[in-house]
Amino acid sequence: MNELEKDKKQELILMNITGNDRPGLTADIMGILAKYDAKVMDIGQADIHNTLSLGILIRVSENNSGNVMKEVLFKSTELHVNVSFSPITEEDYMSWVNLQGKNRYILTVLGRHLEAKQLGAIANVIAEQGFNIDSILRLSGRPHLEQNAEEKSRACVEFSLRGTPKDKDEMQSKLMSLSKELDMDTSFQKDNMFRRMRRLICFDMDSTLIQTECIDELAMRAGVGDQVKAITESAMRGEIDFKESFTRRVALLKGLDVNVMQEIADNMPITEGAERLIKTLKAYGYKIAILSGGFTFFGKYLQEKLGIDYVYANELEIDENGKLTGKYVGEVVDGKRKAELLRLIAQVEKVDLQQTIAVGDGANDLPMLSLAGLGIAFHAKPRVVASAKQSINTIGLDGVLYFLGFKDSYLKN
Ligand SMILES: [Mg+2]
Repeated sequence: MNELEKDKKQELILMNITGNDRPGLTADIMGILAKYDAKVMDIGQADIHNTLSLGILIRVSENNSGNVMKEVLFKSTELHVNVSFSPITEEDYMSWVNLQGKNRYILTVLGRHLEAKQLGAIANVIAEQGFNIDSILRLSGRPHLEQNAEEKSRACVEFSLRGTPKDKDEMQSKLMSLSKELDMDTSFQKDNMFRRMRRLICFDMDSTLIQTECIDELAMRAGVGDQVKAITESAMRGEIDFKESFTRRVALLKGLDVNVMQEIADNMPITEGAERLIKTLKAYGYKIAILSGGFTFFGKYLQEKLGIDYVYANELEIDENGKLTGKYVGEVVDGKRKAELLRLIAQVEKVDLQQTIAVGDGANDLPMLSLAGLGIAFHAKPRVVASAKQSINTIGLDGVLYFLGFKDSYLKN
């Protein structure tokens, strides 16, 4: 083969550079590659604790490949990093290229902290389902070593997967059962533009945005706490129809003075992470709704406090003396109505259903959780978790940000 033919013939070489990261390393390596007219077919880098792993797949004429490797090797020695070269055949390269366009998924794993046991179980599911892992990204900040910081700590890792799961339903239920068993939360989502451009989030109110059931608070003050609580719990477990239970509970509140509502509102415990989540999503242009089987009064209070765009809940009837009549006004917002409202708001806001998120804890949230593009059961009753595709049980409401791909480092707090 003469020099001209050698110059035309191209080689594919994968270079892996590992060692202590230092400024200018990539620039130095690229300088050498540029000198020999190498094409960069792929490049990727991971940096952990100042130790880098840089991969560059180059295509360079056979004539120059020896010099490229020699110079990169010299430079690596000078920079105290390791380099290895692997020749790639054109067949191997093409079969890798043909994997392009395959389905992509995002698997998010979060918890108060993440352990090898948890990530190992996740990696097993990924392997069983025949996925390739394209990348692994830590979304949470670097964890501190001090134990006392653990109370509010959170950790999150996002896997980017390529391929088609062997059995998507089986995978989803396996992930949900592992989450429960190993004290973590997972979400498995198709990676597409909708996933990156969600626009509307609908929250349940009682036991989701706030850590109480307002109807129980009212009942306690009306002296019918135990009776109402028993009906609430039974309804949330899905044992009795929501509308029926609602009517029965409201009837028990007859005669209660409306002033107690303000007092309850002023003392409502807002769920950990709720304010951070809402503030962040608002800053990125999300529309925010409360769709509640509870009461409008408390929904409006939260709307004012948190800057919420839409509130749909139930209106209690009040007589001329400022006492509850034991009746409500208009249609009850039940599970079916919540889903209808989500669909309506999406239409009004001109967002695709795939761009919507719903978060709730009760059986009456299930219809909206399954309709939304991303339905999240939040610290939910077992029956709700069992029917949900993803849940958050280990950390606060701002865990939703991780499912949306927000890194802590993007956010100020
Ligand atoms: Mg609820």
